[in-house]
Amino acid sequence: VTRLPRPDKTRVLVVANQKGGVGKTTTTVNLAASLAQAGASVLVIDLDPQGNASTALSVEHHADVPSVYDVLIERYTMDEVVQQVPEIPNLYCCPATIDLAGAEIELVSMVARESRLGKALSSYQKKMDYILIDCPPSLGLLTVNAMVAGAEVLIPIQCEYYALEGLSQLLHNIELIRGHLNPDLHVSTILLTMYDSRTRLSTEVAEQVRTHFPNEVLSSAIPRSVRVSEAPSYGQTVMTWDPVSTGAIAYRDAAREIAERGASRVAMDGMNDFRA
Ligand code: ADP
Ligand code: MG
Repeated sequence: VTRLPRPDKTRVLVVANQKGGVGKTTTTVNLAASLAQAGASVLVIDLDPQGNASTALSVEHHADVPSVYDVLIERYTMDEVVQQVPEIPNLYCCPATIDLAGAEIELVSMVARESRLGKALSSYQKKMDYILIDCPPSLGLLTVNAMVAGAEVLIPIQCEYYALEGLSQLLHNIELIRGHLNPDLHVSTILLTMYDSRTRLSTEVAEQVRTHFPNEVLSSAIPRSVRVSEAPSYGQTVMTWDPVSTGAIAYRDAAREIAERGASRVAMDGMNDFRA
C-alpha cells in the first residue's frame, strides 16, 4: 500500500447530498478506509439515523451504545463515544444509533442548535488527519451541524437519470451556511458514483457534471460494482472485502486525489448560476 501525503491540519470532509441512495455512505466508509490504509488517522462520524456507516465499519451501534446523539445533547464527549474500527488500524468511528432519528426535531429547541457537532469536534482530544461525516439524506439540522463543523463538502453524484436534480438547492444551502454560520465552507470535491462506462446515460451525466464543475470533480469515478454493494453485509468496506476489485481500486485512486489536492480552496465562482 502506497502512503499518501498527510495534511498539516485536520481536514473535515462533509459527505452530503440530500438525495438518498447516491453513495454517500459507501463513499464515506471506503474513502476513510483507503486513507487509513495509506497511513492517515481517520475518524468517520455517522450522522445518519440509519447507521449504515456504523454497520459497514462493523462498530457496535445498538440502542444502548453511546453515540453521536449523546454527543449532540452533551451527555458524552466525542472521546467517550468513538470506537476503533476492527481490523483497520488508525480508523475510528463515532456511531449512530436509533436515538438519532429524533434528533432533527429535538435540536430545533436547543441552544446553539447548528453548532453542537462543531463544538464537540473542537474539544476532541485525538488528533486526526481526516474526519469524514456521513450525512443523512436531507438538508435538516443534522446536515447543517456537519456543515458548520467542517470546511470541505464532498458531494457524491450518482451517474443516473435525475442525478443533477436538487444540486442547485444543495449549493444554495451551502452558500447560506457559508454566509451565516461558517465562512470556510466550500465544495472541495465532487465524486461520480455508480458510473457505468457502457451506458450512454452514465457518460452523459459524467460529462455534464465535469463541464459544470471542472475543478471539483475527481478524475476517478467509482464504477458500479457488486463487490462494493455486497461488502457492508459482511460488515466490511470493499477495501478489505476485495482490495483488488474495480471498486476498491477506484476508491483508492479517489483517496489519493483527495490527499494530493490538499485542502486547496476551489473557486466558487459560477456555482450559483448552476441549474440542473
Ligand atoms: P446513500 O448513503 O447516499 O443513501 P449508499 O452509499 O447507501 O447511498 O448507496 C446506496 C446503495 O447503492 C447501497 O445499496 C449501496 O450498496 C449501493 N452502491 C453504492 N455505491 C455502489 C457502487 N459503486 N456499485 C454498486 N452499488 C453501489
Ligand atoms: Mg447513507
